[in-house]
Amino acid sequence: MQNDIEKILISEEQIRNRLKELGKRITEDYRDKDNFLLVGVLKGAIIFMSDLIRHIDLPLQVDFMAISSYGASTESSGVVRILKDLEENVEGKNLLIVEDIIDSGLTLSYMYNILKSRKPASIKICTLLDKPSRRKADIKVDYLGFEIPDYFVVGYGLDYGEKYRNLPYICVLKPEIYQ
Ligand code: 5GP
Ligand code: MG
Ligand code: MG
Repeated sequence: MQNDIEKILISEEQIRNRLKELGKRITEDYRDKDNFLLVGVLKGAIIFMSDLIRHIDLPLQVDFMAISSYGASTESSGVVRILKDLEENVEGKNLLIVEDIIDSGLTLSYMYNILKSRKPASIKICTLLDKPSRRKADIKVDYLGFEIPDYFVVGYGLDYGEKYRNLPYICVLKPEIYQ
């Protein structure tokens, strides 16, 4: 796998330090709220979610939702549907959506609207990565790990054709891999 990597954009140490800060802010912001539920977006957010919650010093629940997005390609189709729904009833809960990356924003905007219609007490968005230059949907990010330029990145949960999720950092693959 190491041979497929062009360059590392965000190191393990940078991720670790940023997650500590995010966890601290989230802990402060949700300290006086109850029914705190983190909603992870499968599969990309699994590693971010599992590391992040260990920096949140509050009682919380986790649940996961799977939404169709790119498949093996690197471009958003705009066609979005629920592949796996939540197990929890979200009514009256304080939701924090945990996403790996926001690109066009179409996937998250769709998910946000579905969750909002289920009458939670509040909804906020936490994303590890953001590519604001590619935005098509209007989305307010409440907690951001890193803003990145318009590269297709993998690692730390993010895949290309279901591979590379287990790399411990965020990186760009060599151009020939994407061909
Ligand atoms: P959006 O709907 O915001 O365009 O994209 C949503 C999803 O596409 C993200 O949650 C992520 O799963 C995938 N995606 C977007 N950009 C990238 C990227 O640079 N690398 C990888 N691996 N997935 C991406
Ligand atoms: Mg995602
Ligand atoms: Mg993917």
